[in-house]
Amino acid sequence: MSKMKKGVRLERISKIYQDPKSGKDFYAVKDTSLTIEPGSFVTLLGPSGCGKTTTLRMIAGFESPDEGEIYLGEEAINALTPNKRDTAMVFQSYALLPHYNVFDNVAYGLKLRKVPKEEIHSRVMRILDLVELTGMEGRMTNQLSGGQQQRVALARALVIEPSVLLFDEPLSNLDAKLRVSMRTEIRRIQQEVGITAIYVTHDQSEAMALSDNIIIMNHGVVAQMGTPQEIYYHPVNEFVADFIGEANFLKGMMTGTDGDHALLDVGNSKARVPSKEGMRIGEEYTVVLRPESAYLAEQGGLPCKVILSCFMGSYQNYHVMVGNTLVKLTDYNPKNKRIYQVGEECSLVFDPESVHIL
Ligand code: ADP
Ligand code: MG
Repeated sequence: MSKMKKGVRLERISKIYQDPKSGKDFYAVKDTSLTIEPGSFVTLLGPSGCGKTTTLRMIAGFESPDEGEIYLGEEAINALTPNKRDTAMVFQSYALLPHYNVFDNVAYGLKLRKVPKEEIHSRVMRILDLVELTGMEGRMTNQLSGGQQQRVALARALVIEPSVLLFDEPLSNLDAKLRVSMRTEIRRIQQEVGITAIYVTHDQSEAMALSDNIIIMNHGVVAQMGTPQEIYYHPVNEFVADFIGEANFLKGMMTGTDGDHALLDVGNSKARVPSKEGMRIGEEYTVVLRPESAYLAEQGGLPCKVILSCFMGSYQNYHVMVGNTLVKLTDYNPKNKRIYQVGEECSLVFDPESVHIL
């Protein structure tokens, strides 16, 4: 495909729905601005009901925003119907035509667009090759497995050569193992074609595995946008930290500084943490500690008491109390390590560089 890649821009987009129970209006999406770079793979991630599908459907043109403007490349597209938008959507339900075979399902959009017959044939065959369905052209869609149906749905979207591919939880109907292999496939195909992709999911590992950038949504607004690493290591708030991976939150009052580090009073002991701009002595801060970024030792860290110690194979799972705060730890590769038992008093150690301050 030799088309120019296009990005997508949302400028202060809102969508208002009426709550069917109370009859009151509410913002399903509120004052949201986003820039999606051409050729990138971006995931909208967030809990059920946070406005992901609504955002995607506004980009596709199935819903129109009540406020704001959507741009595809440089073009404002609010007034365009879905088929004029140069986007294609892959649905969770596949939405295949049941009485058509694979070839005709994929060819359908090209026939609608009055593409010449020979060109349809060559384009469909090339796309079937890309999604690894060569030889299946004559099969009826009800003779296909879930994974194969999803490939047909993907082929059908790709064959019209849209500038932007939209996905709404496309793997939710597949079993766990197939989901993992299909997401690798989707990423490979997106990179091969070089298309801009916007992908909706509530599954954080899917978002991590697929994305150049992740947009975390909550209650109709963007909580954070960034690379998977930025979001994991530098979450902007407790919601984001908790939604991506597991997180412990240690609260402590700043009591001073130590070179480049700040000192926090956590559980009656001093914790060295990275200092961040604007931190002030006497204020309380929250330390985000990932379960894999701390370990137990005899001494040298925050005093703690083990309340759970469980062998999980690849790691030892610990729960410890630091003062009144529960901290969960995953200590990988425990085979030749000292294992701490329930009831032991020990020390929680972490490198200041491996925690994040909110
Ligand atoms: P998500 O895809 O993140 O789960 P949605 O975008 O589907 O969330 O929905 C956002 C909110 O808007 C939810 O509270 C949902 O119930 C509501 N909603 C979605 N579609 C409609 C509609 N057509 N009419 C009224 N409310 C809707
Ligand atoms: Mg949804």
